[in-house]
Amino acid sequence: MSVNQLEPGKDPGTPTPQMLDAIVVGAGIGGVYQLYRLLQDGLSVRAFEAADGVGGVWFWNRYPGARVDSHFPHYQFWFSRELWDESDWTETFPAQPEIERYVNHVVDKFDLRRHISFSTRVTSAVFDDATGTWRVTTDAGETLVARFVVFNTGGLSTPKIPPFKGHDSFAGVSCHTSHWPKEGVDLAGKRVAVIGTAATGIQVIQTIASQVAHLTVFQRTPNYAVPMKNPKITESDLTWMRESFDELSKKVRWSRGGFVFEDPPYFRDLPADQRDAHMQAIWDSGNLSIWGNSFADFQSNQQANDYVTQFVRDRMRERIKDPALAAKLIPTDYSFGTRRVPLENGYFEAFSRDNVSLVDLREDPIDSINASGIRTRAGHHELDVIIYATGFDSGVGSINRIDIRGAAGVSLKQLWSEELCTTVGMQVHGFPNLFMTMAPFAPAAAICNVPVCVDQQCDWIADAIGFVRSKGLRSIQPSAQTQQAWMDHHRAVSEPTMIGRNMNSWYRREGPDGSKRELIAYLGGIPAYRRACDDMIAGGFKGFELV
Ligand code: FAD
Ligand code: NAP
Repeated sequence: MSVNQLEPGKDPGTPTPQMLDAIVVGAGIGGVYQLYRLLQDGLSVRAFEAADGVGGVWFWNRYPGARVDSHFPHYQFWFSRELWDESDWTETFPAQPEIERYVNHVVDKFDLRRHISFSTRVTSAVFDDATGTWRVTTDAGETLVARFVVFNTGGLSTPKIPPFKGHDSFAGVSCHTSHWPKEGVDLAGKRVAVIGTAATGIQVIQTIASQVAHLTVFQRTPNYAVPMKNPKITESDLTWMRESFDELSKKVRWSRGGFVFEDPPYFRDLPADQRDAHMQAIWDSGNLSIWGNSFADFQSNQQANDYVTQFVRDRMRERIKDPALAAKLIPTDYSFGTRRVPLENGYFEAFSRDNVSLVDLREDPIDSINASGIRTRAGHHELDVIIYATGFDSGVGSINRIDIRGAAGVSLKQLWSEELCTTVGMQVHGFPNLFMTMAPFAPAAAICNVPVCVDQQCDWIADAIGFVRSKGLRSIQPSAQTQQAWMDHHRAVSEPTMIGRNMNSWYRREGPDGSKRELIAYLGGIPAYRRACDDMIAGGFKGFELV
């Protein structure tokens, strides 16, 4: 069969198809919706997932205390009213098992499972200039050819374990939080270390502090953390959710961060004597609104940012009674909201327990790991378990682990090692018919309630593919100029923000030499981003090379 004879809607139940319209890589929130949408559009599609189940991060991250920081009802698929009408949520911030169950329900409801090859990792994707197709291989030894490839591989799906000296010599149990075994890890009565105190570390620490014999927390950079309020979801909450679908789904699409919040005031417009009450009300809401929605100019106005930073430091100090501990746990060298703000529930109180100790790695860095524990400059910590909450190779980690060769055999990894670049975070010049979600230089890369942002990206990708097919074209890719224009725009709007000034966060991609480089978070806002993407479609993909 030639590539021009690809048949949409090919029966996916038949043995492995050799040629497809599209291949979807990943079956998390992004991959599941991408697969659904492309099948709806009549394409022959197959999805590959390295895990043996769906859910993406909600499959992998089974660590104690894992739950969302996106509050009800925002963290769910937005594409189906029917799905909303039947979805039951039990908590304002659902925990990992509930979300994993939900994604499984979605996959079964829409009969997607039979289109997914599990426990199968895509290892390479090579573009054939002559036919305009992608040759994709997997670690199961299969080779497929497809017109389009979509990498829904997630921006936080490749764990990062620091190369500590002697890392492999530890005789106890060691585990990265994103590879937590399904059967769990027995922590009761154990001497446990947690390395890392960001969103993940905080959830682990507050959850296991009361379960272990001793917990040693290794902190390099303290984080501002905001209390989470997590009431149970009631029947009337669910009724409200279902009745509000139309309104919420309209509003959320044009929201600032993928949440429906009231529009915040500008700092200068709120009289000084009303600011504390305004902040307290936001603080009391117990969700991420203090980050995205305290003041409209929070990311651009130093005065507004200083004010919020001081407010948060004061609230933290009220909780941490020991001044020496407060000095270690409260950040002083960067502003609030310039790194991902974690929510917490009893985190600071955990450090008041007799069985919890804090090692400040800025004063006492890790020297090495050995069979019995962790040696720091000041001493040795005897351990049974080491938990790495050390984050991810963010943005492009998973894509870079696939050998991707575009037009003329150019390696995407090599290109990105020289200059990380995308067009609206979804395509790269030189890689026709290749798409990605949650990649750098889009809101979905970092600053967004991801299901909302990824939903929009999956739709844009499906629309671009639909455009190529409906016009009888062979391929689509952004021109070099279009890509440069997007990168220039990204840098112009993102770098001058408060977040752009903080070099120490996963929002900045590390270069091969370990230095922090390009800011992967696009900070022009969802509305500007969505308009830019919509304009590309409305303009018939002007600025793209259509062959
Ligand atoms: P993922 O969920 O990462 O799924 C990608 C999938 O691709 C994985 O299953 C992986 O196995 C698979 N894959 C990768 N490479 C290959 C390959 N080569 N071959 C085959 N399969 C491959 N975001 C929020 O908005 N709110 C939250 O509250 C929130 N909480 C989070 C909590 C944790 C612990 C983590 C780690 C992230 C959280 N996020 C949150 C961000 C999260 O990444 C997104 O919300 C979302 O789940 C990403 O979905 P995805 O499908 O794009 O990627
Ligand atoms: P992270 O934000 O990258 O934090 C990694 C932690 O490990 C930091 O404390 C970091 O310290 C520390 N670390 C890394 N290398 C180290 C080293 N060599 N020595 C000592 N410490 C080291 O990773 P994460 O906490 O897993 O979170 C990643 C993202 O996933 C979050 O920002 C969020 O988007 C998502 N997430 C969300 C939730 C939620 O919504 N509930 C939960 C978990 C994760 P430094 O800060 O000094 O680098």
